[in-house]
Amino acid sequence: MELHTLTAHELSRKLRAREISALELTEAVLAHIERVEPAIQAYITPTPELAREQAKQAQARIDQGDPSPLLGIPVALKDNMCTEGVKTTCGSQILHNFVPPYNATVYRKLQEAGAVLVGKTNLDEFAMGSSTENSGFFTSRNPHDTERVPGGSSGGSTAAVAAHETILALGSDTGGSIRQPASFCGVVGMKPTYGRVSRYGLVAYASSLDQIGPITKDVRDCALLMNAISGEDPNDSTCVQLPVPDFTDALVDDVKGMRLGVPKEFFAQGVQPEVVTSVRSAIDKLAAAGAEVMEVSLPTAEYGLPIYYILAPAEASSNLARYDGTRYGLREGFEEGHIRMMEKTRAKGFGNEVLQRVMIGTYALSAGYYDAFYLKAQQARTLLRRDFERAFEQCDALVCPTSPTPAFKIGELADDPLAMKLADVLTIPVNLAGLPGISVPCAPVNGLPVGLQIIAKPFDEATALRVAYAWEQMQG
Ligand code: GLN
Repeated sequence: MELHTLTAHELSRKLRAREISALELTEAVLAHIERVEPAIQAYITPTPELAREQAKQAQARIDQGDPSPLLGIPVALKDNMCTEGVKTTCGSQILHNFVPPYNATVYRKLQEAGAVLVGKTNLDEFAMGSSTENSGFFTSRNPHDTERVPGGSSGGSTAAVAAHETILALGSDTGGSIRQPASFCGVVGMKPTYGRVSRYGLVAYASSLDQIGPITKDVRDCALLMNAISGEDPNDSTCVQLPVPDFTDALVDDVKGMRLGVPKEFFAQGVQPEVVTSVRSAIDKLAAAGAEVMEVSLPTAEYGLPIYYILAPAEASSNLARYDGTRYGLREGFEEGHIRMMEKTRAKGFGNEVLQRVMIGTYALSAGYYDAFYLKAQQARTLLRRDFERAFEQCDALVCPTSPTPAFKIGELADDPLAMKLADVLTIPVNLAGLPGISVPCAPVNGLPVGLQIIAKPFDEATALRVAYAWEQMQG
């Protein structure tokens, strides 16, 4: 049996029934990593020894009758989540040798749940990008076509799930970095509500937008992983004190009477016609299953991209000021005094995309330009959030494409930064409004995966999961 191809909930049953052992499962995944990793390149740091050790501990808990559904299940973490004793590079040369002294809360929670860490995955440097081509190390490949990108920035985690190099993975999503690669690789990816999951130990990119979320093979696994990582954290004051429902309760396979809004701006020009057709046909099927489908409008959504590309670089320029050779990672020019050390370290350690965003952000925040750019963007963000609030007065969830196109070829958009940024035009508004969103596969276009995006009200991940699950069940 091909254990690595199964889902977490299928494997959990087998583990509990003693059909397989946790170590056997981990060995199956590690062997598969060995086989396909040369072609996929999902991992910056595989952790096979740690995985074997954790698998043995998980087995001991299974033997004692511990009911945790993630016991013994292999998981991969995007390499911007701190793992004590395991290198955490953020895909950047500036952190090429950084070994965190503490664990991100999500990793601690996964350890408590008994999951098994099989490795740290590739990403665009500091999560800035949509393809992993901005990684300071290498580009990951799309398992559906290795000449194409897996999407980004969580492209390593997503490729790993799609290529069965792990059972579960976590990514982070600041403007689409979980949902867009999930769409490109034909897997499930959820960005929870801002404040649902702790970011303690997630290396900050744009703090008012960053969220950690699941990347999985199906919607049930997504709900299980949400259960494991959600909830308040004394170490992250932005993580809210709200009760966390059991997200698997939302998997009822019934959309009768649910009101689904179709934001017309998300089907407009720039979205490939074949993608529109695929997503429309999914929406038609949801309607046939009893959902009430209505058109809604998000007039400010077209400003999402410009708002994001002021706010995210502004926050990044501040967050990334700490990489200066003093405390973390790379240090260059120490003998030449601290100013030169900073200059040399940052010039050598950061890639072009990061340097560019730090400069844009610094500019947008500087005296004289602050009001014209940063403040304006904040004001526009409020308008965008209100658009969503108005839409949600009429409906329970919004349905639309995740990305305007299927996966593009490696190098195809390298000289066209605007086209690259447009890959996130349908996901960024969701981050700006702080809402939960999930991408689930719908009908492929020319053999390449396409994602259906479902957006819900704040802290109503359950509704997004319910629609996603119903759609998944319809496809069999
Ligand atoms: N692709 C977007 C960017 O380049 C979003 C990245 C993300 O969500 N981390 O910033």
